[in-house]
Amino acid sequence: MRARAPSATFQCLFLAYAILPFPLSESEPCMTARVLDGLKIRDQIFVELKDEISHLHAQGIRPGLAAVLVGENPASQLYVKSKIAACEQLGLASWLHTPLAASTTEYMLKLVDDLNRDDNIDGILVQLPLPKQVDTKRVLEAVDPAKDVDGFHPVSLGKLVSGREGLVACTPAGCMEILRRNNIPIEGANAVVLGRSDIVGKPMALLLMHANATVTICHSKTRDLPDVVRRADIVVAAMGKAGHVQADWLKSGSAVIDVGTNKVTDAAEAESLLKNFPQRLAKFREKGSVLVGDVHPDAINTAGALTPVPGGVGPMTITMLMSNTVKAARLRRARGALGASL
Ligand code: NAP
Repeated sequence: MRARAPSATFQCLFLAYAILPFPLSESEPCMTARVLDGLKIRDQIFVELKDEISHLHAQGIRPGLAAVLVGENPASQLYVKSKIAACEQLGLASWLHTPLAASTTEYMLKLVDDLNRDDNIDGILVQLPLPKQVDTKRVLEAVDPAKDVDGFHPVSLGKLVSGREGLVACTPAGCMEILRRNNIPIEGANAVVLGRSDIVGKPMALLLMHANATVTICHSKTRDLPDVVRRADIVVAAMGKAGHVQADWLKSGSAVIDVGTNKVTDAAEAESLLKNFPQRLAKFREKGSVLVGDVHPDAINTAGALTPVPGGVGPMTITMLMSNTVKAARLRRARGALGASL
């Protein structure tokens, strides 16, 4: 008697379990990407941080973050508000400094110097962008590297290059947490990073390299981008170009981390990007804007796993800022104790 051929659905699920590094849920249609939920990981990390913070409280230590918000940029006000709210939720101390929009570089340098000297403060966050008249580079470089919770200081970047413990830029650190906590294999994987900015692309590529991926960094002058992306097991898109990475560029089963956060307001662009997502399109028509990543939304049907926008990398950035503040408190105390014993 001949055995019956397995159904197409069975074959597909079998392939998914056998080949993909991450199993698809049986309730999802074949080849629909697993959603890498940043909110869920944020909640896990917050539980771990609360535990660590209560241990520090028990030793009389209350880690604290000082935020500097210059002027009245509404987007910056919203970001800083969320950061302060996260501190309160976790039991971290926080201070908000709001210099006037007309502040000078000298004023900002003095403020940063005061915060550097204040022993209660473990982390200093200077919300960007700063007004045009302020020399942003000088201000960021004035932050004590031990309190550089954004990980933007050249000393922090240098530690990352040489694989030494330090404070790593929050967005790429958050992308690594998403990969690790979803058991996406990194060692030996071909990873392609789209974008080479100092705050996302470069540190991301370094973190993947230290985790033993083979890393290719792409930028605006890269030739044959679709072919490079097609070879990737892991794609990290940080270009700032809505829906630029097409669904058919992605290798079947690849893990895609979409850092891009692009506000689309043009109706024709939204209709084209979201033509297969009627609910999102309806929301766009209601609101007049929609957030889209650098990866085309249709990638949900070609990638193996994908971060949503919003709700993927976004929540991880604030999470890693909180994590860096606790880490800075720990490292500063450890250094202090070492200094005292010498
Ligand atoms: P950025 O400083 O503007 O850098 C963009 C990078 O993309 C540059 O290296 C640029 O290449 C490259 N690029 C531009 N067009 C390209 C193309 N067609 N092909 C290949 N590479 C291209 O941006 P960023 O600060 O890194 O941010 C990137 C995106 O991530 C933005 O959408 C931003 O809003 C988002 N973001 C999100 C979070 C979050 O929390 N979710 C945090 C930070 C950033 P060149 O170097 O050759 O110009």
